[in-house]
Amino acid sequence: MFADKDISKFNNIETPFYYYDTDLLQKTLRSCADAAKPYHFHIHYALKANFNSVLLAHIKTIGFGADCVSAGEVRRAVEVGFDHKKIVFAGVGKSDKEINEALDLDIFCFNVESIQELEVLNDLARAKGKTAQVAIRINPNVDAHTHHNITTGLDENKFGINSWDLPECAEMLRICSNLEFIGIHFHIGSQITNLDVYKNLCIRVNEFSAWFEDRGFNVKVLNVGGGLGIDYYNPDHQIPDFEAYFEIFNNFLEVKPNQEVHFELGRALVGQSASLITKALYIKKGKKKNFVVLDAGMTELMRPALYQAYHKIENLSQSKIVNPKSSIVKYDIVGPICESTDCFGKEVEQPETFRGDIFAIRSTGAYGEVMASKYNLRDEIRAVYSTEM
Ligand SMILES: *Cc1c(COP(=O)(O)O)cnc(C)c1O
Repeated sequence: MFADKDISKFNNIETPFYYYDTDLLQKTLRSCADAAKPYHFHIHYALKANFNSVLLAHIKTIGFGADCVSAGEVRRAVEVGFDHKKIVFAGVGKSDKEINEALDLDIFCFNVESIQELEVLNDLARAKGKTAQVAIRINPNVDAHTHHNITTGLDENKFGINSWDLPECAEMLRICSNLEFIGIHFHIGSQITNLDVYKNLCIRVNEFSAWFEDRGFNVKVLNVGGGLGIDYYNPDHQIPDFEAYFEIFNNFLEVKPNQEVHFELGRALVGQSASLITKALYIKKGKKKNFVVLDAGMTELMRPALYQAYHKIENLSQSKIVNPKSSIVKYDIVGPICESTDCFGKEVEQPETFRGDIFAIRSTGAYGEVMASKYNLRDEIRAVYSTEM
């Protein structure tokens, strides 16, 4: 919910921009840290969700580690001050250059996604006279019951090592003298709202952990990845239920006294703490449809075009408080980009809209600003923080 004072302030700032509520971010981080504490769970923040340095500074301060998927993210994490011994590096396609950089920065762990990657990492580590700590990313074939474009843990996905390749993987680990196996890693998808999915994951993690232990490997780290979803339909001050989430893992993971449980949360930590603030440029009345054309499009927020994602859209200028008698109209709310998929919502009920009205596209703290593109040579999207206003 935006207060009247926010709306009048937004009127004075050039649109479009991402508005970050750092107070809500802080509360969300605290809530997660508090919920994880009784179980001694380790949290790594997935920079992929948002690598904005202001947000990262808050996240680092709370004591979380970092989960990176490129050398650029590893570098960013180190620059912002994350402890290099709390950085994990995942990704199906780490280049030699990226691996070398991460080796130089002495990160905590490489989450390795193929047998060939083990060989390459071993060679590169040997050339530097180093030993790299590795966790094996296993594809557990667990259905995340989420959008098919953001599921990652099924046999047909490109991520991780499949169970039938594990014997070969174990052989390779024995041969590679510059690698130290420290554990197993999973990440089955994103925007997971059905917690039963995590129960199924735990059962598979227990099986794979036993498989490695039976073969004489010391499984110190159980990294269960991230993927906890947020409620895009109710964005107001919604802090994810971290307690229920961690409780599932506490109940269903078999954790031995020498084992650590690691998480990699992205969206759940930052998703609700931003809105994309944008202005209505034009209202077009058609025969069958009405359009609101905004000054933000898929170049600023790609999720709707990329995976038909829903974001709640609010016309702040005609909100109930501002204009209690406004009539309701159905609009297709679109951006200015020359693509038909540049649409934030179809047939969305809104108060009657006028040129210059300010809109908030909610829950855009994750996979928003970081997915912005230069397509159409658009201006770079800016960020505004609640503390500055
Ligand atoms: C994207 C990603 C995450 C974070 O996913 P969220 O859905 O944002 O929590 C965690 N681990 C890995 C390996 C990832 O690729």
